[in-house]
Amino acid sequence: MTCKNGSKEPVFVLTSGEKLCKNCFNLYFERKARKCIRQHELIGKKERIAVALSGGKDSSVLLTLLASITRQMKNVELFAILIDEGIKGYRPFTKKDAEKLCKKLKVKLYVYSFKKELGYSLDEMLKKLKKGPCTVCGTFRRYLLNKKARELKADKIAFGHNADDEAQSIVMNLFRSNNDAAARLGVINGLKKDARFIRRIKPLYFLLEKEVTAYAFLNGISGKFVECPYAGAAYRGEVRIMLNDFENKHPGTKTGILSAFLETLPLLKEKFMKEGDIGFCRKCREPTSAEECMACRLLEQLKKK
Ligand code: SF4
Ligand SMILES: [Zn+2]
Ligand SMILES: [Zn+2]
Repeated sequence: MTCKNGSKEPVFVLTSGEKLCKNCFNLYFERKARKCIRQHELIGKKERIAVALSGGKDSSVLLTLLASITRQMKNVELFAILIDEGIKGYRPFTKKDAEKLCKKLKVKLYVYSFKKELGYSLDEMLKKLKKGPCTVCGTFRRYLLNKKARELKADKIAFGHNADDEAQSIVMNLFRSNNDAAARLGVINGLKKDARFIRRIKPLYFLLEKEVTAYAFLNGISGKFVECPYAGAAYRGEVRIMLNDFENKHPGTKTGILSAFLETLPLLKEKFMKEGDIGFCRKCREPTSAEECMACRLLEQLKKK
């Protein structure tokens, strides 16, 4: 894509070296997201889409984009779900930003907290469990999002994951030899036939984090965008730094990882993820491949402490 307004001030340089003005950058960004939705059939003609909103820049950009795209789709309903994990110094700010954004976009927001739904905030859980914060947080967040989205009759849950997030997940799973988790990545996941598991879609999949940041900044999608205090300790943080370093030295590294991965994903799914692999948790009846889901196992450990 070439910037036709050469006279206008360029605001963004693409990986290819093209310089774009604000209008052309917005067009580039929105087209890329729309193309991803169309090509991967992320949104059907008559669906209820729940956006997993954190109040951070990725999910705020996603909600803004989807609100604009679905405005023209008469039979598509959009709403947002925010999970309040109970992280001091972080979640109260992002929750306020999420509420403001939903009000502006006239999108209904549902908020559920760890404390109310599970009995403990994440801060409290981490004092009792000897596990990585993101493992505990991610397990319960996924658990609640799926449960609540299903109760709210959503057909899909949209996540603001961008190309950087996905490239990090791919590399992390590779380093840890975790093919089961790798098979669950991709632009859309979940099994068509399983009504208990709400399929997850990632419309920003092919957009780089720096592009999402620029789009948020250029379009006044503002907020405090504070970082979670537990983020630095995560293994993901180390992989992120490594990939950013590589991308600087060798532009195109992240999209290269995605293309190579997407080519092998059908084989991974074939081998590691089959319809029927998922059963019910004997305690909570949520979908799981084990006898008892990870959320129930962690809750059990919490009660014993
Ligand atoms: S960085 Fe980790 S602990 Fe913080 S919100 Fe994300 S997953 Fe949860
Ligand atoms: Zn232009
Ligand atoms: Zn369970």
